[in-house]
Amino acid sequence: MNVYFHTFGCKANQYDTAVVRQAFADQGATVVDDAAMADLAVVNSCTVTHESEAKLRRFVRRLARQSERLETVVMGCAAARDAGAIAALPRVRAVVGGAEPAAVLRAAGMTGVGGSGFGTRALSPGSRAPGPEPRARSRGLLKIQDGCDEHCTFCATTIARGANRSRGIPELVEEARALAEHHAEIVLTGVHIGTYGRDRTTDPRRKPGDLGALLEALITAVPSVRFRLSSIEATEVDDTVARLLIDAPRNLAAHLHAPLQSGSNRVLKRMGRHWYTAESYRARLEWLAARLPVLGLGADIIAGFPAETDDDHRATVALVAALPFTYLHVFPYSERPGAAAARLGAPVPPRVLHQRALDLRRLGEAKAQRYRAGRVGQRADGVVSGHGAGKIEVLTQDYVSVYLPTQEWDGSARFEVTVR
Ligand code: SF4
Repeated sequence: MNVYFHTFGCKANQYDTAVVRQAFADQGATVVDDAAMADLAVVNSCTVTHESEAKLRRFVRRLARQSERLETVVMGCAAARDAGAIAALPRVRAVVGGAEPAAVLRAAGMTGVGGSGFGTRALSPGSRAPGPEPRARSRGLLKIQDGCDEHCTFCATTIARGANRSRGIPELVEEARALAEHHAEIVLTGVHIGTYGRDRTTDPRRKPGDLGALLEALITAVPSVRFRLSSIEATEVDDTVARLLIDAPRNLAAHLHAPLQSGSNRVLKRMGRHWYTAESYRARLEWLAARLPVLGLGADIIAGFPAETDDDHRATVALVAALPFTYLHVFPYSERPGAAAARLGAPVPPRVLHQRALDLRRLGEAKAQRYRAGRVGQRADGVVSGHGAGKIEVLTQDYVSVYLPTQEWDGSARFEVTVR
């Protein structure tokens, strides 16, 4: 059977797809890059915004138009919450909530294999069926936990992915060792990685989890690799993680993607984000930025949360302006079925909501351009992250992409690069 895979959403989803892809390959399926050659498409879905679900539906319809024999299995977060809309799309064979490989195999009509939702072997976003031309990518993913114990009122992830479940350090070290054979960078992924380890201890004083201990074990086991944190709450960057960012820049990339969501404490409270305030978020990041020669700093922000006032929006803009962000992901608020935010106040009129999103995007783009311009001509620690159209893409420790003509590349996965 020829199987085509497509992933929507975050790095945790990319990792899940890689695990499922490997399970299909282990069962004898051939993984193909082109949907037109496939008998089956497996689409890993995302539920983070209304738009991501609309994109999923468009994509599944397009697959059905593309080939008469192609059937689709939809897995992942949006699938977990499906009340029938996805199942009713053309040529959808099955809808499988979550990312359990055995369940996806069964839905595809292949003999199920055992196993947990976590992979037992090293995987990369580019992992493929064993074949004559295995292609390794320079950046691998290591999923350290799944789920989240929080209940942010705009988020349906908790419903889709369940409670925090962390993997053990020995298992992760083993997987990192295997990944290091083919990858110069390993990205630690999960849904709420700052809470890593909290579910594995009954001692409430051991907050905020053991992410620092995990990083120390990983760096000791594979010192040649550069690790990167995919997304972490600013106030969950504990002292060990901070020390590694400062003292071990070759081992832990100087990059934090720290969800902010709002710069107004009133809104943060109504979002259910009780573990930080605008002040504590700012203090932690300023402390770190002052100690690092370069820092890639990103954030997710929601514009137009229900009942957000002009003053709330101004507070967010002021906080963003004050912090050294190098990029922003701005999401106009959209209601997620099942999430509580819709019950928390009057919706912001669409015109106002989109204007606020635009203000924040413009501010983010201006900051990104300024940061990049300041980096031009400087040396950086580069890892190859992709190639195509005669160029390679090199990702610096502070999350700046540099494009080099392929002929200037000696084939190394990691090298010093001048930002241009
Ligand atoms: S911390 Fe909040 S936004 Fe993030 S996954 Fe958990 S519930 Fe969702």
